[in-house]
Amino acid sequence: MSGYDRLIFELSSPGREAYSLAESDVPAAPLPASYVRKDAPALPEVSEFDVVRHYSRLSRMNYGVDTHFYPLGSCTMKYNPKLNEDTARLAGFARLHPLVPEPLAQGALQLMHELAGDLAEIAGMDAVSLQPAAGAQGEFAGVLMIRAYHRSQGEKRTKVLVPDSAHGTNPASTALAGYEVVEVKSQPNGEVDLDELARHLDTDVAAFMITVPNTLGMFEPRIVEITEMCHAKGVQVYMDGANLNAILGITRPGDLGFDVCHFNLHKTFTTPHGGGGPGAGPVGVKTHLEPFLPVPVVTKQEDRYALDWKRPKSIGKLQAFWGNFGMLVRAYAYIRTMGADGLRAVSENAILNANYVMKRLEKVYDIAVPGPCMHECVLSARRQKKLGVTATDIAKRLLDLGFYAPSTYFPLIVEEALMIEPTETEAKETLDQFCDAMIQIARETESSAALIHDAPVTTPVKRLDQTKAARQPDLRWTRRP
Ligand SMILES: *Cc1c(COP(=O)(O)O)cnc(C)c1O
Repeated sequence: MSGYDRLIFELSSPGREAYSLAESDVPAAPLPASYVRKDAPALPEVSEFDVVRHYSRLSRMNYGVDTHFYPLGSCTMKYNPKLNEDTARLAGFARLHPLVPEPLAQGALQLMHELAGDLAEIAGMDAVSLQPAAGAQGEFAGVLMIRAYHRSQGEKRTKVLVPDSAHGTNPASTALAGYEVVEVKSQPNGEVDLDELARHLDTDVAAFMITVPNTLGMFEPRIVEITEMCHAKGVQVYMDGANLNAILGITRPGDLGFDVCHFNLHKTFTTPHGGGGPGAGPVGVKTHLEPFLPVPVVTKQEDRYALDWKRPKSIGKLQAFWGNFGMLVRAYAYIRTMGADGLRAVSENAILNANYVMKRLEKVYDIAVPGPCMHECVLSARRQKKLGVTATDIAKRLLDLGFYAPSTYFPLIVEEALMIEPTETEAKETLDQFCDAMIQIARETESSAALIHDAPVTTPVKRLDQTKAARQPDLRWTRRP
């Protein structure tokens, strides 16, 4: 680990520089004294090589899908094909100025128009806006469109129903749109309780927002009944499409009765994910919501593509320019590479992989709900907790064994939840190594729980006080003992 243990500031040596500038060929013009700083800036004085070596070393401490298996449930951490990266870097896309006149941006507009069309077809929706920058913003846009729709009908509904198994963004984006969030309790098997739902459905309810397959990795068997029940009360139904990776080419939200759904391009459609980089959360709607789509909408007339801003009922603009365009290029390249059959195979293999993992692990861990599951499975470490080992401990120990951790403590309704999503891009050998590690940890729980409580011990940073690490991050590198 030598060389990792110093900040770039500590490599500083007075007078050392990383640049060489030509002599100035214009007369010096002194700045007014009030503009001149009193003390030199506290910047590190290092050579170009110091900088390159320091940051290259740091970059090798990264953990990512290109280096390791990443079973983070709900997040669909699948391989990002490099072909998509090459496509996004084509100068005609990457260097196109967003304000270039439409006649000179026909290729980019065509790509956006066709991607929106592909996503609409995949989800059985009538129109798609590519603008939202994340699933959460897709939710927000969808709820705003639902609100605008109810208002256009002369209705003022005030509540949105969200199951207790929902991802945190669901109640958050709903509340941000000005609605009261009402939690609907799930049955013990994670399915929507229809009696409970019926009790909540009244004329104050604007929408029901639900994830399919749900966050326990199960397909709601009575989903069509649910969307019909909602529609009978004038309630719009929103599908959180974060789990679309499980149903591509198998079923479509639109066919199940949904009015709105979002797509996480950084999950299902392989655009890079995490680390605060840009995402994309396009949102699809049925015809009755189309007038409310964010502006601008990409249109096609004969062979010309254009941006339509004249949409008086639109909820407005959501993003700078046209959304995260580079992500749209990547997702388009992916969809066109896979084709319809390829996309269906994605979901079939994602489901196969998740069931393989669940079968191998169900002997040593409790399963949140009996399988078969869809594209992810949720375990509970309640058996291990009785021996003093929690889901957090297991997640930390996995880091020592060379794996990223599954999602923990989500969904909230599962005690000591460990949510595993292997994705279709992992080989059986990788899944086996991961399962072996999980089984080893279950054994260690019985024999050497102390080892697990100390984990991780092989990572650059050891076990942290997680609350303190989040609230008072200390980004200084501490020397290993
Ligand atoms: C990831 C996720 C979201 C939020 O999507 P972002 O793109 O991260 O904003 C919403 N719901 C579920 C179930 C998710 O997994």
